Order: sequence, then C-alpha cells, then structure tokens
Amino acid sequence: MAIDFHREKKQTVYLDPRSNFQERTIESEIRLDPLTGFSGRVAHFHGLTLPDMDFDALRQATEGQFCPFCPENLAQVTPKFPKRLWPQGRIELGNAIVFPNLSPYDAFSAVTVLTRDHRMPATEFSVEELADGLEASVTYFRAVQQIEPQVGYCLLNWNYLPVAGASQVHPHMQVFATNTAGNVLYAELEASTRYAKQTGRSFWAEYLEQEEAARERFVGRLGNITWLVPFVPFSIFMDAEAVFEGKSTLTQLQRTDLIDFAEGLKRFFAYMASQHLYGFNLAFYPAEKEDESFWLHARISARGWLNPAVNTPDVGTIRHLYNEPYTMIYPEQTAEALRSFFT
Ligand SMILES: [Zn+2]
Repeated sequence: MAIDFHREKKQTVYLDPRSNFQERTIESEIRLDPLTGFSGRVAHFHGLTLPDMDFDALRQATEGQFCPFCPENLAQVTPKFPKRLWPQGRIELGNAIVFPNLSPYDAFSAVTVLTRDHRMPATEFSVEELADGLEASVTYFRAVQQIEPQVGYCLLNWNYLPVAGASQVHPHMQVFATNTAGNVLYAELEASTRYAKQTGRSFWAEYLEQEEAARERFVGRLGNITWLVPFVPFSIFMDAEAVFEGKSTLTQLQRTDLIDFAEGLKRFFAYMASQHLYGFNLAFYPAEKEDESFWLHARISARGWLNPAVNTPDVGTIRHLYNEPYTMIYPEQTAEALRSFFT
C-alpha cells in the first residue's frame, strides 16, 4: 500500500502595496504527516536573511564562573548517581560526562555534558566528541535498565543554544527514561503498529523505499542510517530526519552507528551554519523495546528568531496553542540544498 503524502494547495489573492496595488496570488500549503496524519503548514515565504551570530560576546557572558558545566565548577555543583546505579558517581567517556539532572524530568533523568570546554558553535564538535556524548548517554540507559528493567522509553534529546530552549550555553543533552512516550512519539508508535497490522509491512521500510525512489526529500545514506527532510517539518526553518534501519531503541546501537549518525549531524550543522542558523532541538524517537514495526529515528529541528531585530521567537499561537507547525521553506528545497553536503 503506497504511503499517502497528502498536500492541499491554497491561494490568496490580494492587491499588493509593494507593486502599486496590482493583483497578486500568494501560495501556501497544508500537509498531513504521512504516519500520524498531524497537519502542518508551509507558508510565509520571506526567505532566509538571518544576521550572523556573535559567539565571542555570548562566550564572554556565559563562560567559566557563570557556567555550572565548565570544568572548574562541574564537580562541585552537579549531583552524583547513587552507588547502585553507577559506583563512580558520574559516567565519563572521552570528554563527555553524565550526571543526574538537578531538576529531573522523570524518575531516571540525567544530563550529558559533551565537552570540557564551553564549545560553540556546533560546527566545532568533532565526530568522535558527538559519538562519545551519545555513547555515554546510552551507557546511562543501560545502567538504568540493570536496576529497573521496566523503565519504558529511553529518550535522548538536546537543546542547543538559548534560542532552542537551553538554559545553559555549555553543550549538554537531556537523557531520561520514562513510561510516558509523549504525544508525538505515542502517535507515531500507535500509527506504526496499525500500519503493520493492516499491511503486514513496516511503515518505516515502505517510507524509506518511497522517499528514496521519489528523491524529493531524500538526502543520503551513511552506514545503516537514511537522512531525509520530513514531509511536515516542525521548525519554521528546516528539519532533518535520520532513520536507523531495523533498530528500535537507542540501547541497540553500536559505536559504528553512533559514529555514522554523528557524521550526518555534522553535515546538517554545516548546512545550518551556511544559513546563519546555529540553534537546534534534537530528539530521538525510540520504541520501548525491540519492535519490528517501529524504527528508531531522530529529528533535528533548526531554531532561530522569526524577527531577530526585535527578538521575536519562532513559536507563536499556531504552534503553541493550536499545536500545528508551520514552516517557511519547502522541505523539498531544504533537501536539495542539504544533499550537496551529503555527497
Ligand atoms: Zn561552560
């Protein structure tokens, strides 16, 4: 059964003050997510002309004495795990370090600080550093599962820079296990199970086949990971999606998978930076346990100011209260530009 990529084009006619009030037709689009059916809008095509960021000023205002995650403070101000979870107190791998979240999201909730230095922008991370941060986080999930096997979904996510919701500038990921999948992941899990029951096939296998054949939103493949641009982005700017073929959970991933994923992330960071976009949210969407109908995937979503001159955030009523994303760039355009970073 072919997956439906439903889109409905809309046209607005007005007399345009920018061209002597001549009649002009403006296009927008409603799209439905091919898995969940959630709607999103493609509208407001004003183009991307964002000013570049001043990282020196941000570093000076937030580094060292102001930062709990800089090395001179971290050991004194961050918590340690109880001995039964991790005898050494904090998990260390390369430059990455994992410790309990002082303000937990759930019973098992941790923070992974990626680098010892107050690193920015994201293009400065090496593949090894990114993979170490991911592997240290996965090590935490494995340790949690040792003492609590029924812990549920192991969620790994990252808010990078204040514009993306980070309260600290020093790069750090949020790592927590929970029996509550959250609304988007829950809808995806339910729809994937339904699709498998109705068709006898994995939605995810079919999705990748169709997207790769169409080449509209397909970006490239690194190892067993396929990169594409989602049909309905969550960012007003751009999203990318990485699908881990045949895997359902983070704890199934090997070091090679994490290296391959980190390599793809670096390429997306490079493309974002070329557009003066530096903030992002990253989330992994796992199943609770191994599940043929559901493949692990990650979505990385660029964050920035809608109007940088007056610090207008990129989230307004439509997104915040109607819970409907809208994006200002056609996903197919993003995919075409991103593809050159993956070849
Ligand atoms: Zn710092």
